[in-house]
Formats: sequence, structure tokens, C-alpha cells
Amino acid sequence: MKLKSYVSGQWFESSNSGQILYNAVTGSPVAEISSNGIDFKDALEYARKVGNKNLRKYTFHDRSRMLKALAQFLMSNKEKYYNLSYATGATKMDSWIDIEGGIGTLYSYASKGRRELPNENFYIDGNLEHLSKNGTFQGRHICVPLEGAAIHINAFNFPIWGMLEKLAPSIVAGMPVIIKPASLTAYLTELMAQDIIASGILPEGAFQLICGSAGDLLSHVNCQDVVTFTGSAYTGKKLKQTPAILDNSVRFNMEADSLNFSMLGLEAKPGTAEFDLFAKEVVREMTVKAGQKCTAIRRVIVPEAYIEDLGISIKEKLAKIKLGNPQSEGVRMGPLAGREQVDEVKARMNEIAATSKKMMEWNDSKLSDADYESGAFFSPTLLLNENPLVNLESHNIEAFGPVTTMMPYKTIDEAIEIAKLGKGSLVGSVFSADNNFVREIVMGTATYHGRLVLINADSAGESTGHGSPMPQMTHGGPGRAGGGEELGGIRSVMHYMQRTALQGHPTTLTAVYKEWTKGATKQEHDKHPFRKYFEEIQIGDTLETHRRTVTDADIVNFAGISGDFFYAHTDVTSLEGTIFEKRVAHGYFVISAAAGLFVDPKKGPVLANYGLDELRFIKPVYTGDTIWVKLTCKNKEQKEDREGETPCGVVKWDVEVLNQNSEQVAQATILTLVARKG
Ligand code: NAP
Repeated sequence: MKLKSYVSGQWFESSNSGQILYNAVTGSPVAEISSNGIDFKDALEYARKVGNKNLRKYTFHDRSRMLKALAQFLMSNKEKYYNLSYATGATKMDSWIDIEGGIGTLYSYASKGRRELPNENFYIDGNLEHLSKNGTFQGRHICVPLEGAAIHINAFNFPIWGMLEKLAPSIVAGMPVIIKPASLTAYLTELMAQDIIASGILPEGAFQLICGSAGDLLSHVNCQDVVTFTGSAYTGKKLKQTPAILDNSVRFNMEADSLNFSMLGLEAKPGTAEFDLFAKEVVREMTVKAGQKCTAIRRVIVPEAYIEDLGISIKEKLAKIKLGNPQSEGVRMGPLAGREQVDEVKARMNEIAATSKKMMEWNDSKLSDADYESGAFFSPTLLLNENPLVNLESHNIEAFGPVTTMMPYKTIDEAIEIAKLGKGSLVGSVFSADNNFVREIVMGTATYHGRLVLINADSAGESTGHGSPMPQMTHGGPGRAGGGEELGGIRSVMHYMQRTALQGHPTTLTAVYKEWTKGATKQEHDKHPFRKYFEEIQIGDTLETHRRTVTDADIVNFAGISGDFFYAHTDVTSLEGTIFEKRVAHGYFVISAAAGLFVDPKKGPVLANYGLDELRFIKPVYTGDTIWVKLTCKNKEQKEDREGETPCGVVKWDVEVLNQNSEQVAQATILTLVARKG
């Protein structure tokens, strides 16, 4: 079977013969791959001119809904991906991480995009910055989607997750993707890509797939494109230096190899829960995906006194893991993805072993329903580096397979020094019940790590584990790990957008980004804003209320109702030496009384009070002070319609509470649910 690419709106099959891809278990051919004949310049233009243009017609919410529909569609087809995934050497559990982990990322972004981004095509980043004394010149940042294409170059180990975890934030941002999977396992990516295209969920031009070499694609990129790369540091560094990338300052995000550490606490002696959890995690990370995970534990840092016990425990656990054909009963570890990987991992392992002892030999495991000659098998290999501050091979060399090196430490400082010898990693983990120890390790190693996982007996049950990048949390690492950043929730959407600092008059800013900004013009109408339907409310609609004088009785009654008898409200004899001059009203009374002033009580379009943001009590309100409110519509956002519910939207109101001298005493943003006329 020849793999097809999907470029410039159609499936393309190269007429040239290509590279043969083999089943990792049996060694038999699975597919042939070649991209020869593709016009890469045209594909890139098509992404920009058709895909980007089409995606820009939609909002973040629309595009997030596309991801949800896509996730549902792919989930309904998952069995066929599982079936083909066996050919990559993956066990059912490995495939679950790849396939359902990938689809889960789509779901996660589908939900975050709608909850955390506006129903717009731009995003306001951060607060208003005051740039002038009188407030006529202010600043704010906005992010807008780039106008180019997102080129995603992926590693072979997660053919599905690798594609989807990068696709999700790109599509939410509004950028079309050109996906280039690693050739070795591209047949699985291609299978899912066929469904993505067949589903018709993404607009035309939003998705392209290149099976085979990327040809001269990267030499046509411009400043509106983004290139993300996952793979070896060697390839990453080479691609980063592509002249078009350098000349046009193209964003290049690199996720490269990483010598992650996992550390056992000084107190976690054999027999403790943390010791057992640690041994289990090391074994899990060595055997899941046969150790071909960028986040796998490569360096095991252990108190010197426990290293022998730990070695025994790991070896006992590894001995119970059945290695072989992933489709055979009870097999928990499959082969590497290809025969070349076996040679590569063996060579790297031998380099590390030059200064480390082998605790378990390569290829000493019996295989179930498979053989070493046909399949790409490599049995778990445990090494011991007795002098980790001197022997640096285990900190410098990545064997991308089931190879892990144990190394002893004596003190916390030494443990930190050893951890940092990885020169920048994706992840480190600490297994300890001593939170002071954990804190010291975090403070000592965080600058060298993109993620730190802190596990003890209390968190272990629900922990997502050392090796799992979560869509909500940043994935990436400094230094050797590539210096890139992916995932991390909405942060990764921003990688596909341009952040622009806007500076101007508040009225101009309000007109540009559709959020009322203090100092911008407002409009007052006869009709109370709470009598207006969602569609009728305009940004900047304002109401100045009548006034209310605060009395002793108000404060005493509020103390009784709330149970808040703080001395400044209830004991006027205790004020000497405090910041208060007189009996002061509760802040919550002030905001409640403010609501009493601005709320229109009759039944109408306002369905409910939805919440309160950014509440500040700015000045004390004393007995005898008179308060009043300026209520201004800040912004509004239509909510998705739900069956059985009144169609509505959320309106945010700026609430300024002032006193008789027009000094501001409180500030808040309140949210109301307002019915739509329709
Ligand atoms: P690789 O050989 O560096 O290849 C990575 C990707 O780059 C593949 O898609 C490859 O395509 C492509 N590529 C190679 N030369 C290219 C060129 N001239 N132009 C455009 N694309 C090119 O890495 P790998 O063997 O697939 O993956 C294993 C490595 O990836 C390990 O070192 C591992 O640590 C690292 N990794 C890191 C992460 C992370 O998140 N940090 C995740 C997974 C893996 P072809 O396959 O067609 O050559």
C-alpha cells in the first residue's frame, strides 16, 4: 500500500517508488512512502490563501466546536486505529495513550477554547496599562491569528497524539495545519487523516498531510507561518537553521530529546509507600511504548543507601513484564518502532555503559509469540552509574528505548547538581513524603525543567504520572530539550497569534476591541439597562443611580445578618491606632447596597446575577457617608443555546461605587445573564 498525502485540496500519490515501512513485530512490509512530486510551495500558498482565509471567518468558539465534532467523529472510528497501531509495536495501553490521549487533547481544547476565550477572532491579553496622567492615552495588548500556515513536523513515537496535540491549538487560533509525520509510523497518521478529511468538519484548506520527505517546504516559509518540530536535537538544530526560517524570523518551536530524571526522597527508605511507588514508576516508564517516550525516565537519582534495594525491586518488577507480540495474551511491552531503532538504541546504550554497570542485559527477556530476528525487540536494560558527577555519559546520551540508568546521591545539593546535569529536560519527578525536601528540589531544579511531578502516597492514586504531558499543563523544556513550549492550555493557542500592543484614546481602544475601557465615552438612555434585551444593550451603556446615606443601623443590621462582627463595624471604642476614623461599613454591605441602587427590580430580560469579578474596596465608607453608583456595560458575549434554556448572553458591567465627594470607594465587575429577544 502506498501512502497518500493530502495537499492543495486533494489526495496525492507519488508515482515514484518510496521507502518501505515494516511491521515492528513481524518485520513484514506495511506500506510504502514517498512525497516525490508534491509542489510544496503550492501547498503552503493553498494553506495561507484558502485554509487561513476560511478559518478566519469563524470565532474561537466556532473553531473549538469544530474540534469537539472532530473528536466525536474520530472516537467513533477508534477501533481501526487501534488495529493498525499494533504494527507500530504498540500494546493496547500504548495505543490508548496515543489514540485516546490525542483525541482527549481535542476535547480539552474544544472546551477550553469556549470557556477561556471570547466568541471573537481576537483575544485581549492582560489589563489596561495607564500611559498618561489624565487617562486620554492608554495601552492594552491584543492577540490576532497569524495569516500563514502551521507546519507540524512530528516524531515517530506518537503518530496520532503528535498530530492532534499540535493541531488542536492551531485550529482554535485559526491557523491551517500542514502535518508531516515521521515516515516510520506515518501509515497510522494517514489512516486518521483520511477520516479527518472525510468528516468534512474542518473548512477547506485547514488540514494538509505530507507523507514522506518535507522536500523544500521549509524554504518557502514567511513571517506569518509557524514551524513546530518534535524529534531529535540533531534534526531540530538543522531545521532551525533553514535560511528562510532565519531570514524571515519564523517562529520555530522545538521539542527535542531529553534526559529526564526521577528522584527518590532522602527519607523514602525501602518499605515506605514512596519507595514502592518510585520503583513502579521507573518500571512503567521503561516499558510503556518500550521506553520510546520523550518524557520517559532516563536517569534514576537515588539516596546512596537505598540503591541496592531499588535495583533489586526494579529487576523483580521488570522480570514479571511479558515482552512480545502486543496482540498476544498478557504482553505488556512490545518492540521498538523499527529495526533501525534497535541498532540505534543498542549503540547509544553501549556508549552509556562505557562508564556504567549493566544490571540487566539487553535481549535477556523471552519473547511471547515473536522473535528477535524478525521484530524490533529490545528488552529493558537497567544501568548503574556509580559516580554520576564524574561519569557524564548517562547525562549526555539518549538511548530512545527501554534503557534507564540509576545513580546514587548523598546530599540534597548533590541530588540537585546531578539532576541539572541533563542540561535542560522536559520533566523531572520527585517521590517523597517530605515536603521540605520536595521544596528544595523544586527550587533547585525548576530552571532546568519544563515540568516537575511531585508524588507521594496521597497524590499517587490520582497522579497522571511522570511521563504524561497533560493538555492543561505546559510541555517542553529548556536547553537540550529544545527550549520550546507546547500545550499548557490556552498558552499554546497564543503561539499561533501575534501579540500587538495597542496605544490610544480609551474611546478608540473600546471601538477596536469591543470592551468598554475606563475613560471612553458612555451613553445614558431613559430606559434602564436592566430593561434591555441582550441585543439592545450597547457597550458603553451607562446608568448613574440615585443616592443612599449609610447609617449606623445599616452597619449593625448587616453585622447581624452576615455574622461579621469585626471590631471596626461594631466597636467604635476600639478604633484608636487603626486606619479607621469612625464606624466603617462592611465592604460587602457597600457592594450589596450598590446592587440595591443599580438593580431594576421588576421581572425582565435579566435572568440572573451570574457572578462578581475584580472586587476592590478602595476607601472606607463611614456612617453618614452617601454612596451612589455608575454602572456601565463593559462587554457582552452570547452564550451557546441549550435545549430547554432561554437563549441568553453574559453581560459584564463595570460598577464604580462613589461617595458624596464623588471619590471612588469600591470597584467591581458584575456579570448578568440577559435573555435574547430571539
Ligand atoms: P528525527 O529523526 O529527528 O525526526 C523527526 C521528524 O523530523 C520526522 O518527522 C522526520 O521525518 C523529520 N525530518 C527529518 N529531516 C527533515 C528535514 N530535512 N526536513 C523536514 N523534516 C525532517 O526524530 P525521530 O527519530 O522521529 O524521533 C525520535 C527523537 O525524537 C528522540 O530523540 C526523542 O527524544 C525525540 N522526541 C522528542 C519529543 C519531545 O516532545 N521533546 C517527543 C517525541 C520524540 P522523516 O521521518 O521522514 O525523516
